[in-house]
Amino acid sequence: MILPKSNRLTPEQIAEVTSIVSEFGCSIQPIVGAVRTIYAIVGDERDELMINRLEGLDYVERIDRIQSPFKLMDRRSDLASHRITIGGVTLGEELAVIAGQCTIDPKNPNYFLETAVAVKEAGAHVLRGGVWKPRTNPYSFQGDSKSIEILMEASRVTGLPVDTEVMDEEQLHVALEAGVQMLQVGARNALNYSLLRSIGRAVARRSTIVLLKRSLHMGSLSEFISAAEYIAAFGNPNVILCPRGTAPALDGYRNQPDESITPLLKEKTWAPVVVDPSHSVGRASYVPACALAAVAYGADGLCIEAHVEPSHGIGDDPKQALTPAVLAETVAQAKQIWALRHSAVT
Ligand code: PEP
Ligand code: MN
Repeated sequence: MILPKSNRLTPEQIAEVTSIVSEFGCSIQPIVGAVRTIYAIVGDERDELMINRLEGLDYVERIDRIQSPFKLMDRRSDLASHRITIGGVTLGEELAVIAGQCTIDPKNPNYFLETAVAVKEAGAHVLRGGVWKPRTNPYSFQGDSKSIEILMEASRVTGLPVDTEVMDEEQLHVALEAGVQMLQVGARNALNYSLLRSIGRAVARRSTIVLLKRSLHMGSLSEFISAAEYIAAFGNPNVILCPRGTAPALDGYRNQPDESITPLLKEKTWAPVVVDPSHSVGRASYVPACALAAVAYGADGLCIEAHVEPSHGIGDDPKQALTPAVLAETVAQAKQIWALRHSAVT
C-alpha cells in the first residue's frame, strides 16, 4: 500500500510508481478514501527492492505492509479514518437506521409508498425494499424488476436514499442505473466471489454504498471481512458489515443471533457494523430486543424490516415486519442505548 504525502498522486507520479511496480509483476489500484487516496499494490508486494525504490520517491510518505488477508478493511489500514455517510447520517457519529419492507409488492405499490413515509417518520435514514428476492422455494415469488420504479418513486417522495439486494450482474446494473444508493449483498451471496467482484468493479467510481450481509453458515470473522475486501479492492471502500444471524438456528429463532460479534469485528476492521435483527430472530415480537442488544454490543446502525400493515405484506413481512409504531419506539430506545454507550465508552 502506497501512502502519498499529499491527498493523491498526480498522473505523472502514478505513471512513475506504475512503471516501478510493473517491473516486479505488480499493478496499482487507487482506493479513494475520505481523507486521501491510497494506492494498493496488486500482486506480490513483498519484494524488498521494489519497496525500497518506492520509499525513495520524495512524494511517498510510506509503504504500508499490513500482514492481513484484508489489508484495506483492516483496523490498521490508512482507511481507518474513512467515514461513510448516507441519508444525512455519518456512521459512527449517530445511530444509522435502515428500514422498510422485506419485499415490494408490485401489485400493491401503495403499501410500499405508505411504508416509506412511515419509516421516515419513525426515524429511518435509509429506505429498504426488496425488488428481487432470494427464495428457498423456487415457486415462491422471486421479485419483479418493475418494483424498482416503486422503490425510486418512494425515494423521490420521501427524499430517503434506498437499499435493495442484487443477486446478479443484470440486477446490479438495473439498480445502479435507477440510482439506488445502497446495494445489499444477501446472506446467500455473501461468499459469491464473482458477484462481489462484479459489484466492486461496478461501484468503483461511484459513491454507492454496499451493505454486505454475513453469510448464512457460521463462518469466521476473517471470512466475513475478506468478503468486504473483495469489493473495496476495486477502489470503493464504502462497505458496511451486516450480521443477520447464522445457521443452524437457535431453537425458536429463525437463525442463530450474532449481534454479539460486533465488538470482535471492530477489533479487526474499521468497517461500520449495521446489524439486521429481523432476519436474525425472524419474528416481529423478538426484533426490538435483538435490535437493542445489537446497539449495546456497539453496532453503528440497524437494518429493520417494517410494513404499515405486516399481515398484508409478502416475503418475510407478515412474520418479521415491525409496525411503524413499534419501529419508532425501538429506534427511540436504541438511540438512548447508543447515547449511553457513546458517553460511557471512549
Ligand atoms: C432480506 O434482507 O430480505 C434478505 C433476504 O436478507 P438475507 O440475505 O439476510 O436473508
Ligand atoms: Mn427479508
